[in-house]
Amino acid sequence: MSIYDIFVIGGGVNGCGVARDAVGRGYSVFLAEMNDLASGTSSAATKLIHGGLRYLEYYEFRLVREALMEREVLWANAPHIIHPLRFVLPHHKGLRPAWLLRLGLFIYDHLGGRKALPATRTLDLRSDPAGKPLKPLYHRAFEYSDCWVDDARLVALNARDAVDRGAILRTRTRVESVERRIDHWSVRIRDTVSGQEETVLARFVVNAAGPWVDRVLRAVGNGETEHNVRLVQGSHIIVPKLYDHDRCYFFQNADNRIIFAIPYENDFTLIGTTDRDYAADPAKVAISDEEIDYLCAAASEYFRAPIRRESIVWTYSGVRPLYDDHATSAQEATRDYVLKVDGEGAEPRMLNVFGGKITTYRRLAESVLAKIEPILGRRGPAWTAKAALPGGDFPINGKPALVDTLARDYPGLPRALLVRLVGHYGTRARMILGEAHSEADLGRAFGAGLSEAEVRYLIREEWARTATDVLWRRSKLGLRLSAEEVAALEVFMAEIADEALSAAAQ
Ligand SMILES: Cc1cc2nc3c(=O)[nH]c(=O)nc-3n(C[C@H](O)[C@H](O)[C@H](O)COP(=O)(O)OP(=O)(O)OC[C@H]3O[C@@H](n4cnc5c(N)ncnc54)[C@H](O)[C@@H]3O)c2cc1C
Repeated sequence: MSIYDIFVIGGGVNGCGVARDAVGRGYSVFLAEMNDLASGTSSAATKLIHGGLRYLEYYEFRLVREALMEREVLWANAPHIIHPLRFVLPHHKGLRPAWLLRLGLFIYDHLGGRKALPATRTLDLRSDPAGKPLKPLYHRAFEYSDCWVDDARLVALNARDAVDRGAILRTRTRVESVERRIDHWSVRIRDTVSGQEETVLARFVVNAAGPWVDRVLRAVGNGETEHNVRLVQGSHIIVPKLYDHDRCYFFQNADNRIIFAIPYENDFTLIGTTDRDYAADPAKVAISDEEIDYLCAAASEYFRAPIRRESIVWTYSGVRPLYDDHATSAQEATRDYVLKVDGEGAEPRMLNVFGGKITTYRRLAESVLAKIEPILGRRGPAWTAKAALPGGDFPINGKPALVDTLARDYPGLPRALLVRLVGHYGTRARMILGEAHSEADLGRAFGAGLSEAEVRYLIREEWARTATDVLWRRSKLGLRLSAEEVAALEVFMAEIADEALSAAAQ
């Protein structure tokens, strides 16, 4: 039986990022994800590639600097799913003074390698359109830059690239046990659909199980390291579009927290997030009534038109697996990551990932590899800073030109569809469109522009197995499909899964 160099537990952004980096350096890699890719925290973020302005108040300069520097690196690697945003931070007379906001933003602008993103400026909300949807008591604001990312797609693209470079990746595959042998690990995995079990051997294990990281450690039987993460729930609400411009808001609250309001999927506004300690099963996390009230009240403090719970069209919740630094409140717990290697002498090692952000996943992977190299031997240099993710091989501002080229090559397809496909798949949109001359050539239509060709692509290239994978993680078309349309997609996907099973049995 062959022994892999590295076994990665968890198909979130950190696990897939580590697998991609490692396989690209020449290690053999096996990754198991117990559910769908990004089904844990990595699809529940606010979706910002950001330095984290508020972390400056907690003196997290290392984290903020690394994260700020990553913004433009990641944007260049994935310009289809990442784009710049401008944030409007109104000065609230009863809260932080204007000079403190200006100082914070000065540091934010200068701490980490900003080149293409525009600098901070001051706004007069009485004349700037950004003031229009706000209550008239806000006169002054600061406007600064960060980036947006489709978090779940970022995970799928890292997984795709890892496998294209030779990694083995299994979704719906749970790690049941991890046993230490003399010079390797014996990892027992179970296919959660078929129930089939298998043993995989590896010299090094990376535990990137996010909120489940301590549970995995318990399964290894390492009693000392069971309580490393503090689980902190964060929830978001989505309401119909609250305003017409494309900027976001950064609102300070009287409880010292902040929330964002962000344009979302063209027709909606995303509002979040909350911070509260969480003790139950991370797989069952859901927004509470109290969180809904909190988000509606916090946003209504600023917007002229109050935000009411009746207007909420969707909500989502996630659990931050924060490194437990024993901070007094959930919002104060560090957002930085901590990597701990377990094992000594000739023993095989396990590296546990505690904490981390979407923004720093690539740097986290590099740090993980820096700990693996002395143990397994160096195979290749760091390479991910300048490597496009699948479909991202075009310039940072090249999306409109890419849409124009597709519109020229596919004159029979609606422009809105091409815009969406470029935003999801970049240059790979052509793999879906193939020889199509019209929408009918893309096969069955499931609603909102979702075609059979796209669904088949997601099954073939991005491990989608269920309607939820397609509608809420590979896309957000779930916001637009009716219950009947969702049911039809579910039936279609089940049929394809059956076809695949019978083909495999022959
Ligand atoms: C509300 C909220 C807002 C956030 N906003 C931002 C933001 O705007 N920007 C930012 O940079 N970061 C943000 N974050 C942080 C970011 O989302 C997380 O740090 C990141 O997604 C963690 O990724 P992960 O891979 O470590 O964990 P996860 O994504 O949870 O991945 C772990 C995976 O391991 C799998 N797994 C667990 N146990 C097993 C097992 N036994 N066998 C196989 N698989 C297993 C799980 O199914 C899961 O998919 C936010 C987080 C939250 C909750």
